[in-house]
Amino acid sequence: MRALQYRTIGAEPELVDIDTPEPGPGQIRIKVTAAGLCHSDEFIMGLPEDQYIYGLPLTLGHEGVGIVNKLGSGAHGVTVGDAVAVYGPWGCGHCHACLEGQENYCTNAAALGIAPPGLGAPGAIAEYLIVDDARHLLPLGDLDPVATVSLTDAGLTPYHAIKASLAKLGPGSTALVIGAGGLGHMAIQILRAVSSATVIAADIDADKLTLAKEVGAHLTIASDDSAHAAVRDAAHGVGADVVFDFVGSAATLETARLAVAVDGIVQIVGIGGGLLPSGFFSTPFGAWVRVPYWGSRSELMEVLDLARSGAITVHVERFSLDDGPEAYRRLKAGTIRGRAVVVP
Ligand code: NAD
Ligand code: ZN
Ligand code: ZN
Repeated sequence: MRALQYRTIGAEPELVDIDTPEPGPGQIRIKVTAAGLCHSDEFIMGLPEDQYIYGLPLTLGHEGVGIVNKLGSGAHGVTVGDAVAVYGPWGCGHCHACLEGQENYCTNAAALGIAPPGLGAPGAIAEYLIVDDARHLLPLGDLDPVATVSLTDAGLTPYHAIKASLAKLGPGSTALVIGAGGLGHMAIQILRAVSSATVIAADIDADKLTLAKEVGAHLTIASDDSAHAAVRDAAHGVGADVVFDFVGSAATLETARLAVAVDGIVQIVGIGGGLLPSGFFSTPFGAWVRVPYWGSRSELMEVLDLARSGAITVHVERFSLDDGPEAYRRLKAGTIRGRAVVVP
């Protein structure tokens, strides 16, 4: 089968021909109908050799949907021909977090060497994908695969951050979304769908701000060192009740620190390497700072249902497998509008 692999530290991913994998006991093989590209792929491919822990060669792609194609011995719960979405943050299935469906916070995964597809295990940007367990597959139903695949991360991750902040997002509240890319443009729509907050979007790119407006931001602002002042102006001088930072750089975390309201929440989603100094006389009184990771299995069900209801729509740029390397070039250059999706 053909697969897009990261093979050499610092080099571009390559399209290669490899053996079609066979599902082992309990595993399921799916024929991939769509796979999404995430900035996190770009992040790991930018790591120096001594910090790179994902194995080589690595078939990329942690957003995947497909058709169940073959069951390994003993696998049950899905049937050949089912259209499914892959829940990516695989856990052990037995710890307290996993039993709550929050496999994204599994306490055993690292020690057991369990890694998500495309972030250690072979990923979805290939013709076939092996999924370790049927509980990591959710029914897609009649949702369009290309339009839906990015909900598994670009939808689920902001949804998880927003759901945990909902108590702060009532009438009269303000939410600040920093970075209106793949995750950010979904965050804006989810905020509009599940909260009554006024949504402000900040980005450094004018076209991303246009997209932010198109998908429902009430106000868009330039992400510069006066962004926090613009947020305070718009938010009755009080600041943003919740800041969702989809960049996570030193500069954006400084905006978050200065823009968040007293007793507000900063959700640091972006892995831009910045640190937010928290403490008295630094963060406002009562402020909460959180580093959410991906989302739970039941939250993915809810995100798929939100899409089914028509409340959220991923803006997709579609690529073939051959164009996979070009899609990553575009992602790196910051010229993808919404999410890049590869259709094998
Ligand atoms: P993306 O490349 O699609 O979007 C990034 C956006 O941020 C772009 O619109 C870009 O113009 C904008 N941006 C860049 N610098 C900015 C700045 N200084 N101020 C404001 N906007 C700026 O990326 P993505 O795939 O949406 O991922 C966003 C971040 O979230 C990445 O860091 C990614 O690694 C991370 N991520 C985290 C999780 C998690 O579980 N926490 C999951 C997925 C992705
Ligand atoms: Zn991701
Ligand atoms: Zn677990």
